[in-house]
Amino acid sequence: MTKPFEPLDEEKVFKDPVHHYIHVYERLIWDLIGTKEFQRLRRIRQLGTTYLTFHGAEHSRFSHSLGVYEITRRIIEGFEARDEWDPSEKLICLSAALLHDVGHGPFSHSFEKVFGTDHENFTRSIILGDTEIHAVLERMGADFPEKVADVIAKTYENKLVVSLISSQIDADRMDYLLRDAYYTGVSYGHFDLERIWRVMRQREDQVVFKRSGMHAVEDYIMSRYQMYWQVYFHPVTRSAEVILRKILHRAKFLYQSGYSFQVEPTLLIPLFREDMTLQDYLKLDESVILYYFSIWQDEADPILSDLCSRFVNRRLFKYTEYVPTNYEVYAELRNAFKKAGIDPEYYLVVDSSSDLPYDFYRPGEEGERLPINLLMPDGSLRELSRESDVVEAISGKKRTDHKLYYPADFVYDLSTHRKIKQRMIELLN
Ligand code: CA
Repeated sequence: MTKPFEPLDEEKVFKDPVHHYIHVYERLIWDLIGTKEFQRLRRIRQLGTTYLTFHGAEHSRFSHSLGVYEITRRIIEGFEARDEWDPSEKLICLSAALLHDVGHGPFSHSFEKVFGTDHENFTRSIILGDTEIHAVLERMGADFPEKVADVIAKTYENKLVVSLISSQIDADRMDYLLRDAYYTGVSYGHFDLERIWRVMRQREDQVVFKRSGMHAVEDYIMSRYQMYWQVYFHPVTRSAEVILRKILHRAKFLYQSGYSFQVEPTLLIPLFREDMTLQDYLKLDESVILYYFSIWQDEADPILSDLCSRFVNRRLFKYTEYVPTNYEVYAELRNAFKKAGIDPEYYLVVDSSSDLPYDFYRPGEEGERLPINLLMPDGSLRELSRESDVVEAISGKKRTDHKLYYPADFVYDLSTHRKIKQRMIELLN
């Protein structure tokens, strides 16, 4: 039998538009990529509903996961060349890099909000549970799966290994910024990845950056900042997310109130019943979800069918700035909607940017994520925003952006409710 830690007879490569080639030398990594739980990531988009704003953003979590693996592999290669790396950690670290997102489901962020699922728990269950991934990892030793799961959960004892996958400047973020910039086609988001890993040094249990490479690190922070506002928080993407969430809410509500669907949504019922097993979860991907949305366009329930038709045909909600202190205006609009027979629960929705899982640089505000430290010529460490004027200007700032989403066509069709229409126009323009 082939030993799992044996090298492959020959190196395998994946052609990748961001990293040129992704190199696989170990059988363990190759076999992990071949598992069905990992292949499932091909059917989950990295950026959820962003493809409805930037049509190029069809890239999958599969390609991102390979990218995080490749960046981690190259960083380790650099450390190895300087004898700064404990070789026994290599496969644990590479496996964690590859598998860090394996628990993501379809449109993860919206699902988590509606059903309270948690992709981090699923990642752990996939690594430790009855899965092909677990079987491959276990060949490396009984405690190997647990170690990989601990790296991803940031509880692993060697914090250097953790920081490569999860810190202010880690392989995960470096890959998604470059990949998301490439696939959305935006001109910001790029930075010099190779320069960054060339100036990475190990200092006790953290990764630091030589002062001479500060501008490359600055560039990385600026690209996070740009991508945050220009791509991740794009109001049109959020409109699609709002509709997606409302569809899931409606379907769950209908199921729980005994509504009979024309086609039984078999694969979603465990979610609606809140008794989902790991095996149920692994059956869900974005093709399944979009299939249900497509057939629900013909459902008898007018809200479900309308929202699905909006999502499938990209007839998104319009939006306007929403000032949270202006609560009376919102209350007035809700009443107006109710009077017109439009359910404001589904059609008048406030969405806040701070609900999204992205940020730029906030040293000291990210729990266990260490700030970025520069290694000064005299050997001391200095936190990045104390040295860089550019980073100082944007760090620590948090601008929450609230928007009110509504279907413009409904509002402008309210001609029999002239007063509401007028008020809407006054308030929203
Ligand atoms: Ca990731």
